Amino acid sequence: NDASTVFDLVILGGGSGGYAAALRASQLGLDVALIEKNKLGGTCLHQGCIPTKALLHAGEIADAAREGAEFGVRSTFDGIDIAGVHKYKDGVVSGLYKGLQGLVASRKITYVEGEGRLSSPTSVDVNGQRYNGRHVLLATGSVPRSLPGLTIDGDRIISSDHALVLDRVPKSAIVLGGGVIGVEFASVWKSFGAEVTIVEGLPHLVPVEDENSSKLLERAFRKRGITFSLGSFFQGAEYTDDGVRVTLDNGKTFEAEVLLVAIGRGPVSQGLGYEEAGVATERGFVQVDEYCQTNVPTISAVGDLIPTLQLAHVGFAEGILVAERLAGLSPVPIDYDGVPRVTYCHPEVASVGVTEARAKELYGADQVVTLKYNLGGNGKSKILKTAGEIKLVQVRDGAVVGVHMVGDRLGEQVGEAQLIYNWEALPAEVAQLIHAHPTQNEALGEAHLALAGKPLHS
Ligand code: FAD
Repeated sequence: NDASTVFDLVILGGGSGGYAAALRASQLGLDVALIEKNKLGGTCLHQGCIPTKALLHAGEIADAAREGAEFGVRSTFDGIDIAGVHKYKDGVVSGLYKGLQGLVASRKITYVEGEGRLSSPTSVDVNGQRYNGRHVLLATGSVPRSLPGLTIDGDRIISSDHALVLDRVPKSAIVLGGGVIGVEFASVWKSFGAEVTIVEGLPHLVPVEDENSSKLLERAFRKRGITFSLGSFFQGAEYTDDGVRVTLDNGKTFEAEVLLVAIGRGPVSQGLGYEEAGVATERGFVQVDEYCQTNVPTISAVGDLIPTLQLAHVGFAEGILVAERLAGLSPVPIDYDGVPRVTYCHPEVASVGVTEARAKELYGADQVVTLKYNLGGNGKSKILKTAGEIKLVQVRDGAVVGVHMVGDRLGEQVGEAQLIYNWEALPAEVAQLIHAHPTQNEALGEAHLALAGKPLHS
């Protein structure tokens, strides 16, 4: 890079949003500079989606070892070799990391390692050099948040970043926050043999999901021996001789070896020159229009940095949208209700579209029809000995506007649910499709048969 080079696009941050934009923009012939201070792939690859799913899978294997006798298989669970678990998890991450590095290297992308700062509406400074661009994309992501007076020490009071590399299975853990990240780690640790308590201030676990899904998850967690306190807020934490004691605003206290703070993630937008360049932010989140453009015409922003769903596939989609817009294509704005959402724990919670409560607000209570299909009648689920339920939310005589599922492996079924929602399919049209037997997918078909007035096994 010399000072006279002007890139079509300079991207700050190489996580899901930033690298997807870089790949798509280079594919469309744009000259791209991608600046990353840490590791290409960002949170999702190194501290998020991928390593957590490896831990969950190790947990599943542990559960399978415990439950072998139920299937006539002699097996015993002999504990967790945490070093072995980390080796497996790190192997998954490093394999994907190498692939991604190779992909970026093979494209016309100038990859710059270093901490960047926006120096004007059309430039980013990094390693003492200025990278000029016709456009700049901000994709600096998010980091774990804490609460006032609660210091994350990385040992007894930890964030998800620490939980992923913890060199021991805690005997007991308190998880502060019953959202996606909290329930995921609660599930992993329970499978690994820890005593787990979740503290959630709102009345339900995974409170953004349909209330029915929350209640089913709570029932399943209770059955697994995970305890939780709902509807009371965290008041303070103090160290005990060998752990942490947490006090809630209702006076209750809980003690455990570690406290995982999983109350959400805040945007990385401070001290990076965003405000000086005139970029509008709200509570640190960069404000954008439906094309991910900020109030400064040359600056776009994507991913966890903007106030849309904090999901890797949303970051990918937003990055691609920006690349296509800057290349002169006419991308369609994202319908965020149509984004599939999966909470990965045992059992899984998956959904697309709106909740029953939201549908009633949108269409009127008397216009909303719901149907619940229990997996008890589904052959494959019986074979797997897994329980669960699919709930459909329909506008009377119209399309299905919400699909909400709880059950092991049902996250894999969210793809069809997504097509149903996004193509505004009528229940009778879905029911007309033949679903393979015996699969869990069949349950989605049967739920629609029932909603279309032609129930087969229910
Ligand atoms: P990030 O991935 O955070 O990337 C931002 C990048 O910018 C980072 O690499 C950072 O180093 C870099 N950066 C920041 N500042 C600078 C600077 N000044 N100069 C240069 N570089 C900089 N999502 C899912 O869809 N599915 C899941 O299963 C899932 N599981 C998750 C589990 C956990 C525990 C966590 C924490 C998150 C999970 N997520 C999941 C969310 C997902 O990881 C994020 O939504 C996604 O990573 C956001 O992408 P991003 O590009 O906006 O930000």
